Amino acid sequence: MKRIFSILLLLFVVALVAALSFLFFFKFEGTPPEIKKFVLREPLGKKSKLILEVSDQRSGIRAIKIYLLQKQHRAALFEKQYPVDLLWGSRVKEEHLEITFEPLKLGFRSGKAKLLLEISDGAWRNGLKGNLLAVEKEVLLDLDSPRIVIHSPIHYLSPGGSNLVVYSISEKVRRHGVVLNERFFEGYELPGADRLYFALVALPIQERDITKMFVEAEDLAGNKARLPVAYYVRKKKYRHDVINITDSFLKRKIPEFWERYPDVPQGDLLKAFIYINTEMRQKNNATISKLTRRSQIKAFYGDQALLRLPKSATRALFGDHRTYYYKRREIGRAIHLGIDLASVARAPVPAAAEGKVVFADYLGIYGNTIILDHGLGLFTLYAHLAGFTVSLGDSVKRGQLIAYTDTTGLAGGDHLHFAVLVQGVFVEPVEWFDPHWVKTRIKSKLPVPGKAPKS
Ligand SMILES: [Zn+2]
Repeated sequence: MKRIFSILLLLFVVALVAALSFLFFFKFEGTPPEIKKFVLREPLGKKSKLILEVSDQRSGIRAIKIYLLQKQHRAALFEKQYPVDLLWGSRVKEEHLEITFEPLKLGFRSGKAKLLLEISDGAWRNGLKGNLLAVEKEVLLDLDSPRIVIHSPIHYLSPGGSNLVVYSISEKVRRHGVVLNERFFEGYELPGADRLYFALVALPIQERDITKMFVEAEDLAGNKARLPVAYYVRKKKYRHDVINITDSFLKRKIPEFWERYPDVPQGDLLKAFIYINTEMRQKNNATISKLTRRSQIKAFYGDQALLRLPKSATRALFGDHRTYYYKRREIGRAIHLGIDLASVARAPVPAAAEGKVVFADYLGIYGNTIILDHGLGLFTLYAHLAGFTVSLGDSVKRGQLIAYTDTTGLAGGDHLHFAVLVQGVFVEPVEWFDPHWVKTRIKSKLPVPGKAPKS
């Protein structure tokens, strides 16, 4: 009997110690919740986001409250009570929150404000209110959108054409440029032009009309602004051209591609040509667009008409809609995205303007190719070359010899395929050859050295 009593007593003591430890560890624990992650982009804009990760491994999370305060004004950004079991505490040990809020709509103004976080746990401390973690953080609100002013007059564009939009913005921005249809043309700063921005734009030849065109700016707080750009679309007709592919051409050209590119179907000359003229053409054009998306240089050298291959005849135009035939059967279509200029064989090729060599290599249908960067997203491309007299990264002067013409790539005869690109879009080179066009569309809008820009 006495023995049983001792065992019971022992069990009772063990249970009591366990219960006390439990209470001490889980119910009277003194560790407040912890913030594991806190992401808030500042300054806060019209649309703001707070990412918050909270953890309390013992008694769990009882409540999360987040307030924004500015002088006498206070608004709750988030308030949540979690069910707390008297004995077991809160089941929520971790919480991940993404809170979006709009300070302007909540009645706040630009300037300083305070963010207040109050997070409590399921412990029995503080009169059963739990341990409290209170954090106060000073934040800066920017609830004003940038103001845009456009300085260039109406912008004439035809499919394949270029133009220059000049604008200013009231505050520092992290992104700005012109949206034309679905494309974004980045704006650039130019030395000597205080607070003016320049965006070269182009209407791709495949897009016959403009559905939207506006300057867009986003400030450091993420506030966006838009202002429509005045434009007028001039219709333009392009030629249709028929190209007959002969067996001798295929025999002469295709083996060069088989050697270089294992993805070209082997064995069948015609199949290989069709692949090169469609898939490879697309890939090559995509590569060129990517290479010419952004200028690497700070200056702009497109303020003079581009130099044309001297003493050359025009063999094909930009925008020619070509249909390819083999023995009277149609085998493909393509739009010619440059101008073909023919002089004597192995004619010296001058740089069309001052710039930097951003590509000098063999590129599929274009053969040996050079791409020059002239600033503001303006590039020129020279294809079917014999080789290179300049290297990647070189700076070149206007008129400097960069290569000799040849027939590399998919060229039938010796000529220069010359292309102009504006932020990745192939454009009409003839506009850029024309001194009057360059003067009115481009040069007249650029800052004159030593003269203050008009506002
Ligand atoms: Zn060509």
